[in-house]
Amino acid sequence: MTDTTTLTGATLPDGRVRNVVLRHGGISHIRPVGIPDPGQAAIDLTGYLLLPAPAEAHLHLDRALTWEPVGSDPDGRDGAVRSWRAQPTRYGTADLRRRAHRTLQALSANGVTAVRTHVDIGPGGASLRAVEVLRELREDLHRVLDLQIVAVPSPDLSDRAALEAFAAGAGLLGGRPHRASDPRAETRRLLRLADRAEADLDLHLDHRPDSRVLAVADLARLLRKSGFGRQVAASHCATLGLLRPPALAKVVEAIAASGMAVIGLPSTPHGDIRALPPCGGPAPLHALLDAGVRLAAGGDHLRDALHPMGRADALATASLLMTTGQMAAEQAYAAVSTSARAIMGLPAAGTEPGAVADLLAVRASSLAEAVLSAPADRIVLRRGRVVSRTSARRPAAVPGRYATGYGRRRVPAGAR
Ligand SMILES: [Zn+2]
Repeated sequence: MTDTTTLTGATLPDGRVRNVVLRHGGISHIRPVGIPDPGQAAIDLTGYLLLPAPAEAHLHLDRALTWEPVGSDPDGRDGAVRSWRAQPTRYGTADLRRRAHRTLQALSANGVTAVRTHVDIGPGGASLRAVEVLRELREDLHRVLDLQIVAVPSPDLSDRAALEAFAAGAGLLGGRPHRASDPRAETRRLLRLADRAEADLDLHLDHRPDSRVLAVADLARLLRKSGFGRQVAASHCATLGLLRPPALAKVVEAIAASGMAVIGLPSTPHGDIRALPPCGGPAPLHALLDAGVRLAAGGDHLRDALHPMGRADALATASLLMTTGQMAAEQAYAAVSTSARAIMGLPAAGTEPGAVADLLAVRASSLAEAVLSAPADRIVLRRGRVVSRTSARRPAAVPGRYATGYGRRRVPAGAR
């Protein structure tokens, strides 16, 4: 038995239908549709669109699936945060492990092969145990997905305790400078800690729209001055959505020049969730993309006090990017897959020869159809091996396949 698998009859992102040959966990080559060599394993992907696997760039596994026990609060976002803070002692490590495992299972079944989760680190040993539980899960599931753990020290945590949490198994350092009495000093401290720990940094910034505070602009300035040489990501950045075009252009230019990445979170309620109309939205993603900022998007909260919804599905996040961010399907899907992987420091995945064979095959004929209808029929490959397969039956009084009207894109003859 060789280490070669042929995916037959797959529709590639550009609309061509081809056989894709996988070897040693990567894409070996692409061939015209035909019968694979005898002795080679084959998977029939007729009717499936083959995509780079999604990556979930921003999640809170420690809070996921707590909506039912914690509930929300009629007092808006602040109340929801209070509900959560009042509860964590109810959750032991067994409960965390069960919820995190269920969430990762759902993400994997939907196609995700890499996840970045933030874990809040407060005083006491509970948060350290949370990091340890997630580290164990990372080891248990390493054949199914990459799990990146971001330790998020609270501003009142000492440098030593923050570094201890990082050393307990987190691979990145995070932070919430807005919770400090001096957010700028806290950002400087987090940069210093990341430098000392040789860790990449992923900060929660400007998630609460207030145009008087622009932490992402401060971070861009600090990065240019300090020469911090590791990867930096700014998650949220919703305040950018409040800026008028000239001011926005200036800040976006500074972000691009600093080299940091931005992770937008389109499903997160920004600002006061009772306010009508909403007093802010996700970051203005188009402006960031146009300026060449590296951009990803994530799901953030999944069925917890801050967000009772969420399907653990990158296609749902991409769909939100199309509706709230006015992005094209290709841009939206890149933000939850190839760009997210690059920002997470992972090797490129996709259907090009030489790429890692982390792939999502979804029953659709075009990317627009896949994003907008999020079909249940999916086959997920991680390093060339099938890790999940879902097929749905649809007994229906109306015969025929459900069609979205988003058919296969026309490909010029020369490109076939
Ligand atoms: Zn977050």
